[in-house]
Amino acid sequence: MAQSVKGTRDLFGNEMAWFQRIEDTARRVFARHGYEEIRTPVLEEIEVFKRSVGESSDIVNKEMYEFMDKGGRHVVMRPENTAGVVRAMIQHKLLINNDPKLLYYIGPMFRYERMQAGRYRQFWQIGAESFGVASPESEAESLLMLMAFLQELGLKHLSLSINSVGTSECRPAFHAAIRAFFQAREERFCEDCHRRIDTNPLRVLDCKSPGCQAALEGHPVITEYLDEASQRHHLRLKELLTALDVPFEENPRLVRGLDYYTRTAFEVLSSDLGAQSALLGGGRYDGLVKHLGGPEVPAFGWAIGLDRLAMLMQQLHGNAPLSPPALLIPLGEAAALKALLLARDWWSQGLAIQVETRGTNLKKALTSANRQGSKWALILGDGELEQGVVSAKDLSAGTQETWPLEEVPARLRG
Ligand code: AMP
Repeated sequence: MAQSVKGTRDLFGNEMAWFQRIEDTARRVFARHGYEEIRTPVLEEIEVFKRSVGESSDIVNKEMYEFMDKGGRHVVMRPENTAGVVRAMIQHKLLINNDPKLLYYIGPMFRYERMQAGRYRQFWQIGAESFGVASPESEAESLLMLMAFLQELGLKHLSLSINSVGTSECRPAFHAAIRAFFQAREERFCEDCHRRIDTNPLRVLDCKSPGCQAALEGHPVITEYLDEASQRHHLRLKELLTALDVPFEENPRLVRGLDYYTRTAFEVLSSDLGAQSALLGGGRYDGLVKHLGGPEVPAFGWAIGLDRLAMLMQQLHGNAPLSPPALLIPLGEAAALKALLLARDWWSQGLAIQVETRGTNLKKALTSANRQGSKWALILGDGELEQGVVSAKDLSAGTQETWPLEEVPARLRG
């Protein structure tokens, strides 16, 4: 029997219900903040990621699903969505008159990763990007939206970590400092870090290996190397967060793995997630739009893993609250047609009703209704048809009432 491809999975039942809840909440909260949804294709030309995510990153180096299509184009199934959103924005000239543009996306991403708990090769992300504003205020706004989203999902035990990675002007001095620090104790660092120190030295700071983390004790701190404008920016963001009552901590080892980040980098951790504690990350990427061939446009954004979020919701709240529809059970052919007529009317009034269309007997139909967790079974037999009523069985209480047809919508709502 065919099985789903390794690292991918089907979403259904309870997990799907959590996905839906989370997506609905995201759309509601983001719309309130003036963000519009954008959907870009899963397939992009490989250059989009090479030039944005960076050739030295693990994502581009090892994890991309890439292939030649039948027309000989080298394409990639997107490993993340920021690059695609920027590509779309440039292509359709979505930035007019330098007005800010606020966009969000929800969709599947693909990375050929080593398998581990909570990591998939097809996974989902929700992300928000704010284009055209360079201010710390725009970062605070985006973070307030993010926090509102997480709070509306009922998540607690969250902590916000921030750092600044400066700009291309001040980073060379920091690179020199971190290289000198590294060389003095290079035997303590892992093989990957030996590669990173040449290609992407900032990434040494967030190496997951415990040996490297220990070797980093006393490392140079990037915020001490910031140019004056970056320093002011960082200070102002901290002031804003404090005044807005958004608790945060500074983490000098927090660097985002992508080449295009400038100044603010942040992460939200959840202590409920245990070892896999990073729930999401983001930051400022002022250089990317220009780098991909667009105008010079500052930008700030973040992406959250939907799979991990759904897992957390399940852990904290148990099964997603479902409200299975009432089941309308006609007995006999005349009742079967009447049931469809009645249901059409009730559906149009917004009621959730499922019609038993198998022509099955009452006992079987009630068993199905019980199994799917419906509260009400509405029975429509010859007697009921004659009197213009349904027999409404409360499946949790086991009691039965008679409802005139015209009262059904109000009763179901009540
Ligand atoms: P990144 O794009 O690497 O910054 O990841 C942002 C978020 O996406 C992470 O914090 C995770 O929640 C989620 N994520 C990244 N990779 C995976 C994966 N392979 N499986 C599940 N979730 C992932």
